[in-house]
Amino acid sequence: MEKVNVPELFGSLVFDDRQMRARLSEEVYSSLKKTIDENVRLDEKVAEAVAVEMKKWALENGATHFTHWFQPLTGVTAEKHDSFIEPTGDGGVLMEFSGKELIKGEPDASSFPSGGLRATFEARGYTAWDPTSYAFIKDHTLCIPTAFCSYSGEALDKKTPLLRSMQAINREALRVLKLFGNEDVKHVATSVGPEQEYFLIDQKMFDKRPDLIYTGRTLFGARPPKGQEMDDHYFGVIKPRVTAYMEDLNQELWKLGILAKTEHNEVAPAQHELAPIYSTTNIATDHNQLTMEIMQKVAKRHGLVCLLHEKPFAGVNGSGKHNNWSISTDTGVNLLSPGDTPYENAQFLLFLCAVIQAVDDYQDLLRLSVATAGNDHRLGANEAPPAIISVFLGEELSGILDAIKNDAPYEGVEKVTMKLGVHALPRFSRDTTDRNRTSPFAFTGNKFEFRSLGSSNSIACANIMLNAAVAESLHQYADELEGAADFQAALHNLIKRVITEHQRILFDGNGYGDDWVKEATEVRGLLNLKTTPDAMPKLLDEKNVKMLTAHKIFTEAELKSRCEIMLENYNKTVNIEGLTMVDMVRKDYLPAIEEYLYTLSRAVESIKNISATVKCKYEISTIEKLTDLTDNILDAVTDLEEALAKLKDMDDVIETSEAIRDEVLPRMSTLRGYVDAAEMLTSGKYWPVPSYGKILMSV
Ligand code: ADP
Ligand code: MG
Repeated sequence: MEKVNVPELFGSLVFDDRQMRARLSEEVYSSLKKTIDENVRLDEKVAEAVAVEMKKWALENGATHFTHWFQPLTGVTAEKHDSFIEPTGDGGVLMEFSGKELIKGEPDASSFPSGGLRATFEARGYTAWDPTSYAFIKDHTLCIPTAFCSYSGEALDKKTPLLRSMQAINREALRVLKLFGNEDVKHVATSVGPEQEYFLIDQKMFDKRPDLIYTGRTLFGARPPKGQEMDDHYFGVIKPRVTAYMEDLNQELWKLGILAKTEHNEVAPAQHELAPIYSTTNIATDHNQLTMEIMQKVAKRHGLVCLLHEKPFAGVNGSGKHNNWSISTDTGVNLLSPGDTPYENAQFLLFLCAVIQAVDDYQDLLRLSVATAGNDHRLGANEAPPAIISVFLGEELSGILDAIKNDAPYEGVEKVTMKLGVHALPRFSRDTTDRNRTSPFAFTGNKFEFRSLGSSNSIACANIMLNAAVAESLHQYADELEGAADFQAALHNLIKRVITEHQRILFDGNGYGDDWVKEATEVRGLLNLKTTPDAMPKLLDEKNVKMLTAHKIFTEAELKSRCEIMLENYNKTVNIEGLTMVDMVRKDYLPAIEEYLYTLSRAVESIKNISATVKCKYEISTIEKLTDLTDNILDAVTDLEEALAKLKDMDDVIETSEAIRDEVLPRMSTLRGYVDAAEMLTSGKYWPVPSYGKILMSV
C-alpha cells in the first residue's frame, strides 16, 4: 500500500471551515459562522457569496454536478443531480451555481413516502440547505446537505426534526445553565459517536443467495458446524483482504472529513466494527449515512459485499449501532462529565437526572425510535439489549445517587452525607471494568451509550427522541428552579425527587436474563415492547404527541405520517421476505431436494439389482426423512402464501403489521425450520445456495 499523507487527505473533498476561512471574505465568513454556531438566520447575500466560492472550489476538485443531498423517510439518502452548466446562447456553456440554488432545491416529493401528508398537502417539496453540515464532493458531484420539507412546511425527512430537537435541547439547557451562573455559554449541542457494526462476505457467495439479494438477510440456512462459539474472531487478527478493505474505506471516509478512528473484528465470524470520533449530532448523522453508503461501495471494489442488515444470519450475532451521546456547551464543557468542584457536580447531577427521567418517561419513544423489521430479530435475542429500556449507571454513580436519595452517608473516599453544592462528588474511575454490555442505555463516564440501534437504521430517529425527551426534563427543571427562592435547596430537593421517582428505570444487573424481564415488567412496570407493531403505534400516545409538539419537534400531522410510514416499511419488508421465501422454496429448494431424492432412489434401485437382500439403510432412511420434510415444506409454503395473500385485503397499516407479526412471521419461521432440516440431509452438491459455513468463512 502506498503511503498516504493523512492530514493532507483528511477533508480534501469537504468545503469545510478551512476552505471557508481561506476563500470567503471576512464579513461573509463571520456571518456564516454565526449561522453555523449559533443558529442565526442565514442572510441571502451571504448565501450568494458562499455559492460563488463553493462552486469555484467544487470545480477545482473535479465536480461537474451538484445535488441537494437529503434523508427521506425511506432510510437511505436521496440526491437528484443537476449539472452546473448553463447555455451561453452561442453554443457554449458556463458553469453556474447561484445562492438560490444553494439555499433551495425542488425535488419531486411525490416519489418519497409522506404517510398521508401527500394527500393533505401538496406533492411538491423543497430542500433547504443545512449550513451546519459541510458540503462535500462525491462522484464528481457537489453534495449540499439539506432538509426536505413539503411546501406547507411539513418535514418529509429525518434531518428537519433532528435539527428541531437540537434547538429544543439547546433552548432548555441554556435556561438551566443560566441558573448555575454560566453567562458565557451561548450554545449547547448534543454530540454523537456511532459505532457501526457490519458483515463482510464474498461477492460470489452473495450473488448466489436470492434472499441476501432481495432482503439483505438470509431467510434460510442450517447452522454451520463452527460458528461464533469459539470466540476466536472478536478482536482477533484481521485478515489481509479485510485489512485492505478497511484501509481503503478509511481513506475514502477521511477524504470526506469523516473521523473514522477504530476498527476491529466483532463477535461473529465475518463481522466487524467501525467507530468514528464523535461530532455534533446532525453532522454525525450525515456522516453515518455516508459511512454506510461508502462501506458498501468500497466493498464492491474488493469483491466483497458489506451487509448492514441487523440480522443477516440466524444463530449468529447480529449488527447494531452504539449511539454514544452527550451534551456539551460551546465553551467546551461536557455536561455529562462530573466536574472538579461541588458546584460543577451539582450541575452534572442535574443533567444526569434529566437523562434518567427522560429515559423513564419516554421509554416507548426510545424503543420505537429503533424499531424496524430487521432490529426486531436482534433486540432481546441475547446478543443485543432487551426490548425493555433501562439505564445502567455503574456501581459508583448508583451509590452516590442512593446516598442522595436516602440522605445517607456515601461510603466513598470520605464518609460524608452528600449535600449538593457543598460536598464534592468523589471522582469516578472511568475505566472499563464497570461495563455492562447487556444494558440498552449505559453511562460510560462522560456520555451515555444507547445500544439498541440497528445497524442499518439512521441514527436520526434515536437522537430526535433522546434530544426531545431530555429537553422536556430540562424544561420542567428550569420552570421549577427559575421560580425558587432558595436555589440550592430547591436543587437538592429536585434531584432527590427525580432519583426517587425514577428509581425503577435504573438497573445494573444482567439485562439478558429472564429474571429481568419478569422483574422489569411485573415489579417495576417497565414497558416490554417486543416488536415494531407493538412499539410504533405508541408514537401517537397522547403524552408523546403532547411533548413532541410542545417542543415543536413534530406537528401532529407529521407524527401520524411517520407512524404510518414506519409501519408501512415494516409491512413491506416482511412481505418481501415472505415472497422471497416462497420463491426460493418453489423454484430452488423443492426441485433441488427432488433431484437428490431421485438420485437416492435410483441408487436404491441399482443396488437392489445387484443384491436383493441389501438394506440400503442410508438411502432409504434419507428418502423417508426427506419426503416427510418435502411434504411439510409444501404445506408450510402453501400456508405462508395464504397468509401473505390475506395481507392484500387489509388497508389499515396497524392491522396489517399485527397480521404480519402474528400470522406471517411464525409461518416463515416454521417453513425455515423444515428447509434447514432438509439442508442437513441433502448432499451439498445438490443444495442450490451456499451454506452458512461457506458464506461466513468466505473472506
Ligand atoms: P469507550 O471506551 O467508552 O467505548 P471510546 O473513547 O472508545 O469510549 O468511545 C466510543 C465512542 O464514543 C467513540 O465513537 C467516541 O468518539 C464516542 N464518544 C466519546 N466521547 C463522546 C462524547 N462526549 N459525546 C459523544 N460521543 C462520544
Ligand atoms: Mg462501545
